[in-house]
Amino acid sequence: MSSCAAIPQEALSTVARGAVELLGGAESRLLKECDNPECTRVYVDRSRGARRQWCGMESCGNRFKAAAYRARKRKPPALAAR
Ligand SMILES: [Zn+2]
Repeated sequence: MSSCAAIPQEALSTVARGAVELLGGAESRLLKECDNPECTRVYVDRSRGARRQWCGMESCGNRFKAAAYRARKRKPPALAAR
């Protein structure tokens, strides 16, 4: 029973090592973290110029842009405040 406990960890490290090997080439430089602070996903940026900011435009990009747009609209103009 006790020998079973070590297996998930071993499997995990094997997977992690495999992922590093897989991304060890040119793709490791394209590895980015999603710009959405609420998202912890990591993606490979294959876009031209590597300018992608989000793991997915549908899941994070659009939501983030919409939130920024709403926040901008709600905020009163800085000059009018005083
Ligand atoms: Zn994301």
